[in-house]
Amino acid sequence: MAVRTRFAPSPTGYLHVGGARTALFCWLHARRHRGTFILRIEDTDRERSTPEAVDAILEGMTWLGLDWDEGPYFQSERGERYREAARSLLESGAAYRCYCSRERLDRVRAQQLARREKPRYDGHCREGRRPSGTGPPAIRFRTPRDGETVIEDLVRGRIVIRNGELDDLVIVRRDGTPTYNFSVVVDDLDMAVTHVIRGDDHVNNTPRQIHILRALGGELPAYAHVPMILGRDGQRLSKRHGAVSVTSYRDGGYLPEAMLNHLARLGWSHGDQEIFSREELVELFDIDAVNRAAASFDTEKLDWLNRHYIKASGAERLGRELGPQLAALGLDPAGGPEPAAVATALRERAATLREMALASVYFYRDFDDYDAGAARKHLRPVAHAPLASLRAALADLPGWTAPAIAEAVARVAEEAGIGLGKLGQPLRVAVTGRGISPPFDLTVALLGRDRTLARLDRALDFIRARAEAH
Ligand code: GLU
Repeated sequence: MAVRTRFAPSPTGYLHVGGARTALFCWLHARRHRGTFILRIEDTDRERSTPEAVDAILEGMTWLGLDWDEGPYFQSERGERYREAARSLLESGAAYRCYCSRERLDRVRAQQLARREKPRYDGHCREGRRPSGTGPPAIRFRTPRDGETVIEDLVRGRIVIRNGELDDLVIVRRDGTPTYNFSVVVDDLDMAVTHVIRGDDHVNNTPRQIHILRALGGELPAYAHVPMILGRDGQRLSKRHGAVSVTSYRDGGYLPEAMLNHLARLGWSHGDQEIFSREELVELFDIDAVNRAAASFDTEKLDWLNRHYIKASGAERLGRELGPQLAALGLDPAGGPEPAAVATALRERAATLREMALASVYFYRDFDDYDAGAARKHLRPVAHAPLASLRAALADLPGWTAPAIAEAVARVAEEAGIGLGKLGQPLRVAVTGRGISPPFDLTVALLGRDRTLARLDRALDFIRARAEAH
């Protein structure tokens, strides 16, 4: 049977890490088995669902490359179908109308709590007793009271629930809107979903959904409830742990490959392999091999993966990714060297593209102050004469290339009778404002002649002023 999976987010916020991991597992399972991956937007909660959240979810999935084959379907457009399904359940006797007022339900609940019983619907209308309220009824599902429901969960193993534990849930509210457990079942049935892969916070819903599905004459799909995601402190992942929306990682300078790789490893592994390309994941992923223990989202691991994928990316790609990061810092990527060239120079050092952008500000904008320690150490009076000679040599340099610059620096250092570092380091501080940068010849080449000469002049002034102050 052809595999059909679905990702069914409720559009009440951005796509968070947990949702993205669920989407990834659904997508991988479908791709692995050459099946169909369906996207379904569960927007029946009209108050909390927003079009912006739908866009944010689609944006997050698109960034991760989780392409869907069908949908997005919107539950808000399927109201008539849910009412029709409810009517058929009423006709078959699998559901009944419930006229109980809110007041009555509250009273029953309070009494049950007072008797230390689990609150549940007491079945007043199930037995067709005289309606206790007026107005349009809700529709409740007639849950079997005897026997048990068994789920052979692909991740959690066998789960057995006594039916007596479940109560008669409302499937259509008095205002005619379907409840979550009902619309999900109708959709999974209509969309011929073969594998329901979702977070294990839904595991309590599954027996209820199974009963409804059977009553509608549907075949049971396979279920896989994937474990929740924890932060490094062992607490459930939340905003406290920093970014949880997937696109905030994009904005923070992570590559989608790194995110995808890390998400895949949250609960799934293949030996001790850490790095997986998208193709490898599709080839190797196995929902049966997902671990039932909670998995930890580890930013250090993500950084490590991101470094790997940054180093493995071509210059052009990195330049494309770096451009927006520069813009986000208020820099004009066109007002300095090609971002691709800068990325090539910095790729070995950066964990994220944002870090890379922060390390390349001086290519695009003059810095305000020197790093105090670097200036104290390297912009000293002894450096004045060699830097002045270097300035003259660079002003006349015929070709502005890294080898030509390296040669000029070596020549000036030799003429001054000092080691290369005694000139290279002052040069670095003069042009970047700091003590750390890519190799100075490369840095100067990228910076361009005008900026380099202007910054050398500034450093010479700085040294002179410093000498005078003494
Ligand atoms: N809409 C539900 C949620 O966002 C998912 C339902 C399901 O996967 O069955 O949690």
